[in-house]
Amino acid sequence: MTLPPNVHDAEPIPAAAKDAIDALMKSGDLFRYTAPQDAPVALLEAEFAELLGSKYALAVSSCSAALFLSLKALGLPRDARVLIPGFTFAAVPSSIVHADCIPVLCEVGQNYRIDIADFEAKLDTVQAVIISHMRGHTSDMDAIMELCDARGIPVIEDAAHSLGTTWHGRNIGTIGKVGCFSFQSYKMINAGEGGILITDDADLVARAVIMSGAYEHNWKKHKGPHGDNSPELEEAFAKWQNKLPLYNLRMNNLSAVVIRPQIPELARRVRDGLANHDYVANRLNTSPHIDVPAPLAPEQRAPDSIQFNLVDMDDADIRAFSAAAEGRGVKVQVFGQSEDNARAFWNWQFLPEQVELPNTRSMLMSACDVRLPVRLTRQELDVIADILLASVAEVTGPVPVYGT
Ligand SMILES: *Cc1c(COP(=O)(O)O)cnc(C)c1O
Repeated sequence: MTLPPNVHDAEPIPAAAKDAIDALMKSGDLFRYTAPQDAPVALLEAEFAELLGSKYALAVSSCSAALFLSLKALGLPRDARVLIPGFTFAAVPSSIVHADCIPVLCEVGQNYRIDIADFEAKLDTVQAVIISHMRGHTSDMDAIMELCDARGIPVIEDAAHSLGTTWHGRNIGTIGKVGCFSFQSYKMINAGEGGILITDDADLVARAVIMSGAYEHNWKKHKGPHGDNSPELEEAFAKWQNKLPLYNLRMNNLSAVVIRPQIPELARRVRDGLANHDYVANRLNTSPHIDVPAPLAPEQRAPDSIQFNLVDMDDADIRAFSAAAEGRGVKVQVFGQSEDNARAFWNWQFLPEQVELPNTRSMLMSACDVRLPVRLTRQELDVIADILLASVAEVTGPVPVYGT
């Protein structure tokens, strides 16, 4: 039998990064604002904006930093309320707290997406929203944009785990006013750490650029689309000069040279990730005790992991399933069942306002998370699917056969 694959190793960084790293080692030119032009971070920003089809990009130290700067760049006052889904990573509400705002949580359904009725019910109490596409599951952006546009509420997309996902063919991250992405190692492009925000709004990006640490006149090294000078951008920079705090959340050139050669790999990673995910999903859905929620119709996903719900199994069964799979070599994280899980809202005890979300809680108690790195082969995927199916069968017993 083939051994279960190692799902924790990353894919190698393309060899092309080596020459650029060597050049940086020789020159020592690691700071993004030393070179008069074409620093690796600036080139990355231009390439990323073009890839996604947005006017401006700002590379920073993490997606969390991008979310924080987005809130600051929106000019939200202290104690502004910001709506987020109750299923996300702890760093998302943390970025809101960091921006002196108050996270407001809404319910998430069994399909891991925002419960639009609860979202709408809470929308009139908030000044901004962050749509966290958790694990790359896209919430109904048509409904969300219609509700928010009608009220003039700005939408920030937390697309940390959605690079390559589309909605009606449009890139996720370009639908709201700002989109934020992550280059942390578990995301589609891996630089260890790093983040980037994209927007078409010159005033917003100018504020974010300055606050990210473009002190004095370093903002002059930020250009408009296609590296052109942009009069609206220059006007915005002039307006905000010396008016904003500097939080110093810049990206350094070393991260950018690790990221840039991965951009041409993205299409392959997205294609393989989706094919792998759908293959395993089809196999798991053959079990009456496993439900892999379907994507929404306008959504084309870019997964590097799979989430599924256990059906008709109590907490003891769920824990027995998880232990059985782990015993066979496949780690299953059940979001709500592991101690101190950073994706379970009841562990966010730093929130200024605690809230109970019964539907989200019940989803988290039976939702499983298994890593599926895009480099896995069919054979390795079969090993994982076999182990998951055998572990469910071990706990639930054989499927009854009727009519014989
Ligand atoms: C990874 C992740 C983040 C945090 O990204 P960092 O770059 O590590 O700050 C935020 N939101 C989601 C949905 C993520 O997957």
